[in-house]
Amino acid sequence: MRNFTIQGVTIPDDAAYKDVVVIGNGPSGIALSYLLAGNWPYYNGAIHPDEMLTARLSGAPPGRSIVKQDLRFLSQGLEGRSNNPVSLLMDTLNHPCADLGLELPSLLEWHHHPECQVDHIVLGKGPPGGSWQAMDGNILTISLGSWMELPGVDFRAWEAAGNTGMSSGPTSSRDSRASVSSLARYYYDYVHNQGLAKFFRNSCVVTSVLPLDTSHSQNKETIDPETGVQHCEPRALWRVEGFDLSDGIPFCYICRRVVLATGQSDLPNRLGVSGELNNPTWVLHDLRSLEAALDRLVEEEEGDREGVPTEPRCDPVLIVGAGLSAADAVIAARFRSLPILHVFRKKAGALGKQLPENMYPEYHKVHQMMGDGGATYPCYTALAEHRVLEISSDHKVCVVGPDNVASVHRVSVVAILIGSRPDLNFLPPGLGLGRKPSEPIDCRSNPIDVDPYTHGVVRAPPGMYTLGPLAGDNFVRFLQGGAVAISSHVNKELQHQTVL
Ligand SMILES: Cc1cc2nc3c(=O)[nH]c(=O)nc-3n(C[C@H](O)[C@H](O)[C@H](O)COP(=O)(O)OP(=O)(O)OC[C@H]3O[C@@H](n4cnc5c(N)ncnc54)[C@H](O)[C@@H]3O)c2cc1C
Repeated sequence: MRNFTIQGVTIPDDAAYKDVVVIGNGPSGIALSYLLAGNWPYYNGAIHPDEMLTARLSGAPPGRSIVKQDLRFLSQGLEGRSNNPVSLLMDTLNHPCADLGLELPSLLEWHHHPECQVDHIVLGKGPPGGSWQAMDGNILTISLGSWMELPGVDFRAWEAAGNTGMSSGPTSSRDSRASVSSLARYYYDYVHNQGLAKFFRNSCVVTSVLPLDTSHSQNKETIDPETGVQHCEPRALWRVEGFDLSDGIPFCYICRRVVLATGQSDLPNRLGVSGELNNPTWVLHDLRSLEAALDRLVEEEEGDREGVPTEPRCDPVLIVGAGLSAADAVIAARFRSLPILHVFRKKAGALGKQLPENMYPEYHKVHQMMGDGGATYPCYTALAEHRVLEISSDHKVCVVGPDNVASVHRVSVVAILIGSRPDLNFLPPGLGLGRKPSEPIDCRSNPIDVDPYTHGVVRAPPGMYTLGPLAGDNFVRFLQGGAVAISSHVNKELQHQTVL
């Protein structure tokens, strides 16, 4: 391979040029790809309960897509559970008054414009669906199933068409939530059924994203061999490098725009205690591996019991954390009748408090167990206001309580479920992209600082964008706004691109 350099950055001879490279193939990357493929949203003319919004929408020339309109004007004055105005706009059009508990029809229609397709590629570690392909398939979403859907394909209709591979039983309010396994399949099918697969390079890892200093280089002029028309290709601004997971073969893309859509769940948070990383077969940091470990425990138990039902004899499963994932772990261990030791730093806390009990009975049950120490489930022990001090390789864990008294417990498996954070190690160090530039990116407390109407990253060199959790939109229902903001900006820019 022959390489060349631009201002000291090496470009392999076989590098591919793209207008847009999207890193991350979860719901954010998929929604953006749908828009970049030329699928645009249109207001359908119905009355929105927000009269001012209806007036703003009705003022646009007939037949003009939202992508082509002034997003600042359309989204002014909107309020809700996102800090990003275009996310609020798209959410209120998709799910009018959802936070008031109403289930009103969407005010959007999607039309395909093949001539507006933007040359792009979406890169991701696993199959399309991102983190939903890596989560434990048995758990249910917090959100309603309809809030998890992507543009143009109704999740409930897709499910009703028998796509989940599961039989449909009697419905209850819990059925309005979706299972992780159904969603993983929905996102995968979406990419294939919407003709997006050609834009996806799955099973690959991006290892480096580097801005190119093109201040001295000229735009590249090319002549179309068929039409003889001379085009002016915009200057490349970014080099994106990585490798395919199947064969380790490296790849390189040169692009004018790079989009960070890598989500928030690649690096599980650690306790940082001795022994936490030395015992990876039984000290775990994700629910999926925990489920597999619990199944192994049950198998060993059943072997020991030789078919005679007895009290569980294995050492308890130690679960650390007080969030929904820790609660899912408690449910998983309880479902298998395994003994549980649950360590969390605060008192019983606010787990599930904001969630209505009829829709989330499982989380309310765990909250109750955390409060009463497990009076209704004798194999559960809550160690509230405790923290782990040390994990030793002989399965002994030392914890300390509020009175500073330490105790040692023998356990079978440890599940540390205390949240996760994004992995942006492929970026050059020291960019300081967060709203608090000197602190690491955290999707809740320090998301990437973006221009609210383009989702361009404020403190990055030109051409970098982000959406989804990295831009502070931690729920799927809001990430379409980021996709609309980015595709709107890219399309407006491409319109101004010189055609000589
Ligand atoms: C346990 C759990 C439950 C949740 N429940 C809900 C819910 O009920 N409702 C809701 O709306 N949201 C929920 N969320 C949040 C939801 O998962 C995210 O909002 C959503 O998945 C964000 O989509 P995304 O595409 O931005 O990121 P992701 O879905 O995280 O996808 C990004 C993908 O990019 C990949 N990637 C990262 N780095 C690289 C790299 N260097 N090279 C290649 N690929 C890379 C990641 O591995 C990942 O597969 C939940 C999250 C978790 C963890």
